[in-house]
Amino acid sequence: MTGLTPSSRQELSTLMNTVVEGGYCIGCGVCAALPHSPLTIQLDDYGCYQATLPPSQEECQPQQAVSYLSICPFAEGSANEDEIARDAFGDRCTYHDQIGYYLETYAGYVAEGDFRGQGSSGGMGTWILAELFRQNQIDYAVHVHQQPEPGKQLFKFQVSSNLDEIRYGAKSRYYPVELSEVIQHIREQPGRYAIVGVPCFIKAIRLLAKVDTVICDRIRFCIGLVCGHLKSTRFADMFAWQCGISPGQLQSINFRKKLPGRNANRYGVEVVGMSNGQQVTVTKPNNEFFGFLWGHGFFKYQACDFCDDVLAETADMTVGDAWLPQYVEDSQGTNVLVVRHPLLQSMVQQGKDSGRLKLDMISPQQVAQSQDAGLRHRREGLAYRLHLKDQAQEWRPPKRVNPSKALLNPKFRKVHQLRMELARVSHHAFAQAIADGDFNQFKNRMEPKIKEYNAARQPYIWQRVLKKILKLILPGR
Ligand SMILES: Cc1cc2nc3c(=O)[nH]c(=O)nc-3n(C[C@H](O)[C@H](O)[C@H](O)COP(=O)(O)OP(=O)(O)OC[C@H]3O[C@@H](n4cnc5c(N)ncnc54)[C@H](O)[C@@H]3O)c2cc1C
Ligand code: SF4
Ligand code: SF4
Repeated sequence: MTGLTPSSRQELSTLMNTVVEGGYCIGCGVCAALPHSPLTIQLDDYGCYQATLPPSQEECQPQQAVSYLSICPFAEGSANEDEIARDAFGDRCTYHDQIGYYLETYAGYVAEGDFRGQGSSGGMGTWILAELFRQNQIDYAVHVHQQPEPGKQLFKFQVSSNLDEIRYGAKSRYYPVELSEVIQHIREQPGRYAIVGVPCFIKAIRLLAKVDTVICDRIRFCIGLVCGHLKSTRFADMFAWQCGISPGQLQSINFRKKLPGRNANRYGVEVVGMSNGQQVTVTKPNNEFFGFLWGHGFFKYQACDFCDDVLAETADMTVGDAWLPQYVEDSQGTNVLVVRHPLLQSMVQQGKDSGRLKLDMISPQQVAQSQDAGLRHRREGLAYRLHLKDQAQEWRPPKRVNPSKALLNPKFRKVHQLRMELARVSHHAFAQAIADGDFNQFKNRMEPKIKEYNAARQPYIWQRVLKKILKLILPGR
């Protein structure tokens, strides 16, 4: 680190010793995008992007002091989501403790064109970018495209500069992506940009914008995705391998293929790749795959277990899935929306009034209900995980949730411990299965863990007996 100023050197070393060494790096890439940063973003052995400091720092350029700790979404010392959002929206939005600030909240879909058909959910994620572009509010949209180059990562952040490219970026990519290259592009190419990202990525962009006037000026809109957790590259490999496509042979994947007649959450997964020397395309409903359940947390980054933002609270507008009983039966998919920016609010309202959007106004509480499991995991569950880290006297990122074990009874403490274990073991078991060329080895290692987890979640015997008695005496309930 010879070219760094003393304060930058100290910050970089703290970032590496805490966030990265502690396993809290989400691989967003913002630290690597700081001017002359010696950091690069590399895939680790488990298919997770991580900030990496090359062994030799001799090529580092001399530079001004840059604050690595102030821009990392997991570092001690960076502003939290409430602080960032209060600055951005506090004067005009109402605060809700589960979804953050909001102007309006909706559920619905895009009725115009094929946005909904091409999207993962109701198509609002792509529509809002297209609408910003059509109304000449942006010149570029930064979001994730499929990458057709063999041997490369399957998905990458790209800059779209026309409507076709914006539409090409539709669909959810449950796959590692990073921002360093596109941030560099934004610095070099003047214009007005909108960017899409999961909550921690949007937080990182907001933090960067505080110290980088060019980024602050050029990124005009941040569109957030509701986020359960991020997956390593192995999530895609896991689906493909079960379709006869070995790791390294997968060419593309659609994680959210709509299957008519099924509930929206029973979508399909489609993989394209080489199997026995032939290119094959296989589509199956998600529940026919081993490891598809998000609650089991296979291939989850550890950082995601130390995250308290489900609804992208620092974004100008957030889009997610309306996992609510009144919407989930529609296989075409329905969004939840949290709108925080007045211009986006007026665009959404115009879209609704003109019939291009089919939206119901729902309450913030209903938006929170649509993400019930994710919120419980990152409130009571997070409080317990923080407690465990503090008890072990290990560094962990500062959070808006206070550490506590009191919010969970012993049974649910066990459930959360097993959930962490499932995620941790999945990374190692899959790496070993690849080394041995045997998917069943992975399955055999995970199955007993899933069994133990499922058993721990079963209600106590007295709860089951009580339920049966209530059913007998109150049959209509
Ligand atoms: C890792 C991850 C976890 C998620 N977890 C949840 C969840 O728990 N609950 C929930 O309701 N919704 C979740 N979502 C959001 C959901 O999958 C849909 O993306 C969202 O409902 C928008 O659908 P749409 O049809 O409106 O958007 P689309 O029209 O399909 O557009 C999606 C937009 O998001 C961009 N995009 C896709 N993947 C990424 C990515 N990894 N990083 C940045 N931009 C991306 C696309 O390029 C496109 O611009 C998650 C998304 C991701 C990427
Ligand atoms: S800024 Fe992003 S990539 Fe860098 S250490 Fe923090 S989480 Fe990792
Ligand atoms: S769960 Fe949190 S840390 Fe993980 S990707 Fe989503 S927003 Fe980032």
